Amino acid sequence: MSLQRAESLIRTVPDFPKPGIAFKDIAPMLGDGPALRAITDGLAEAVAAWQPQKVAGIESRGFLFAAPLARDLGQGLVLVRKPGKLPYKTVREEYALEYGTDAIEIHIDAVAKGERVVIVDDVLATGGTAAATQRLIERAGGEVVGFAFVIELAFLGGRARLGTDAKVTSLFRY
Ligand code: AMP
Repeated sequence: MSLQRAESLIRTVPDFPKPGIAFKDIAPMLGDGPALRAITDGLAEAVAAWQPQKVAGIESRGFLFAAPLARDLGQGLVLVRKPGKLPYKTVREEYALEYGTDAIEIHIDAVAKGERVVIVDDVLATGGTAAATQRLIERAGGEVVGFAFVIELAFLGGRARLGTDAKVTSLFRY
């Protein structure tokens, strides 16, 4: 299975969840075993050289790629969650979405001081979520070495909002 065929299984749904949003629906790709393997292999190949020590997955679709990536790299997972979901003490950041605003949290002990962290999500849109995650990881003492996305909506310019020191990779750009 090539990455190109995996890409062909990503469905664009117009006007979801609001008029004007072209939603990238990864469900058909997730439902195809070889495509899912090609995607997770592609992410692992892209980030291995950054030598991350933790993989931070952004709720909820980021978890779907962060967990197999962490497993492939033999490293641990950091859960980046919506407010009120994590049971222990948290650090929180507010952020703007392509549609609406929200906040995210991590446990204060999710990252060790100086630990090299890669941030993973399904889609990079405006970059607000990923930038907020970077701030969270840094406040917790970690070093964000890079970001990995399956899809980048390049026309929204989200990459420019991510720290200049961190590397950014995306498998598919629109
Ligand atoms: P942003 O903070 O604007 O980069 O938005 C990123 C988050 O919103 C990701 O977690 C995506 O899952 C979701 N998202 C934003 N725009 C889209 C889109 N057009 N299709 C699918 N998911 C999207």
